Amino acid sequence: MFALNIKTWKLLPPTAPCFSNRSHRASTLSTVRMQKPQKPPSTSKPRRKSYGTSRKSILKKTFQQEQVTFTAPFSDEPVVAIIGGGIAGLICAIFLDKRGIRSTVFDTGIHGLGGRLGTRVIDANNNPLIFDHAAQFFTVNDSRFAELVNAWLDKGLVREWKGTVGELHNGGEFLPFLPSPPRYIATNGMRFLADSLLSETRLVNIERPRWISKLEPFNGMWHLSENGKPCGKFDAIVVAHNGKCANRLLMTSGLPLIAKQMKRLELSSIWALLAAFEDPLPFPGTTEVPFEGAFVRGIDSVSWMANNTKKLLASQSDGPNCWTFLSTAAYGKQNKVPQENIPTATATRVKEGMLEGVEAALGLSKGSLPKPFYTKLQLWGAALPTNTPGVPCIFDPLGRAGICGDWLLGSNIEAAVLSGIALANHIADYIQSPGADPGEFAVGLNHDFQPLEGHDIGQFPGLGSEGKMNEAQVYELAK
Ligand SMILES: Cc1cc2nc3c(=O)[nH]c(=O)nc-3n(C[C@H](O)[C@H](O)[C@H](O)COP(=O)(O)OP(=O)(O)OC[C@H]3O[C@@H](n4cnc5c(N)ncnc54)[C@H](O)[C@@H]3O)c2cc1C
Repeated sequence: MFALNIKTWKLLPPTAPCFSNRSHRASTLSTVRMQKPQKPPSTSKPRRKSYGTSRKSILKKTFQQEQVTFTAPFSDEPVVAIIGGGIAGLICAIFLDKRGIRSTVFDTGIHGLGGRLGTRVIDANNNPLIFDHAAQFFTVNDSRFAELVNAWLDKGLVREWKGTVGELHNGGEFLPFLPSPPRYIATNGMRFLADSLLSETRLVNIERPRWISKLEPFNGMWHLSENGKPCGKFDAIVVAHNGKCANRLLMTSGLPLIAKQMKRLELSSIWALLAAFEDPLPFPGTTEVPFEGAFVRGIDSVSWMANNTKKLLASQSDGPNCWTFLSTAAYGKQNKVPQENIPTATATRVKEGMLEGVEAALGLSKGSLPKPFYTKLQLWGAALPTNTPGVPCIFDPLGRAGICGDWLLGSNIEAAVLSGIALANHIADYIQSPGADPGEFAVGLNHDFQPLEGHDIGQFPGLGSEGKMNEAQVYELAK
């Protein structure tokens, strides 16, 4: 069970009129009290103004908004809106499904679900190029996550990554990690894992691509819309995304406590450079790079590099070599620009800077890194959390709204999964406890944040420096 944090929780007095609507289905005939009278959800186009709002104005609106209070019983067949189809939102939907609760997952993804479980597939003259361009692999720590991963292994959705992974030090010194703890990857790329997850659910509806731009409480329900176009009404909402988008969505939603916690989150920025080379990358003293993935040390611009062809298409012996290079968080910060509008000069500088970093890390002489025949640069402007409240989820029972996501517990897939499970079970417990004191279901609304430790691309429990092989062990393995 969660620790309750209800110190500053106040039930609001019954002030506003009842908004129940007799023409609704029986299940929505409940009475509801709002703290302030609500206007019906608008169907007109939103003014662009709110999305050009300054940080100061977002802060002011966030902290000044009044709390929404739903007091009516939940409808007989409650439906939860999950805004965000990353792994946390998807897992939340699966666990609500297990508890017999319907949900709709809204996600902006054009190519698929998954958010930061992202895979890009490019058809280059019938030679597919494949790149995991955010999450690379994961280790398993928690038993609940282990249970899920075992089921994914049985279904062939994930597999162990047996390729060599380790640390690459500036100048070409490579130290492999021990094979334990096992490292896992999604068999066909991270996005395809996300896209497969809901296949066995019965009560989950997916709306994609959908960008929820407004949340409005009305008649005991949350009304969602995308640029003025209604997207349905729901008994409860889950915010399964973070960053600027979430801050703007929550700024005027009537959820000040939730909005305040979201605003405290800090996120790094990471550049991803996808590069396809005709041949294997060279490495001093040997014919090709002796690893499939490496955390890069001592280079300003690069923190991680992985050969996706070797990782994902192990049986493909020739053809292009697709590498994902991820920057350090410091380099991301230093070269931060709006991710949706990257100036050409910045893109050129960053690409060159990262390729030079790769060259130096591999210990190659200046100008000797082969030229990639394909490159794609992307900025993850809200890449990884750098602080956390350390609670599995956040839930505001009066506003019937919760948050799940990696940042509540850490900065990796496992944290996102555990958070999704926790919020689903918490909402199900609340919905299935009619008459319970809402105050007892408040979670994480006042938790303080702590800095997060980890690699620039997240946390990998068990994969510590003590797990590095010494030369004798490498020799033993090679025999
Ligand atoms: C570069 C990089 C490398 C990483 N490497 C690793 C790694 O190797 N191992 C690891 O374990 N973790 C890694 N991570 C972290 C991992 O990817 C995340 O912890 C995890 O994917 C977070 O999942 P989430 O569901 O919390 O959030 P997200 O994946 O961000 O999901 C949020 C979703 O909500 C959608 N959304 C946002 N706003 C709206 C809206 N208004 N309406 C509808 N939908 C909306 C977004 O499009 C997105 O799909 C990496 C992250 C990055 C950026």
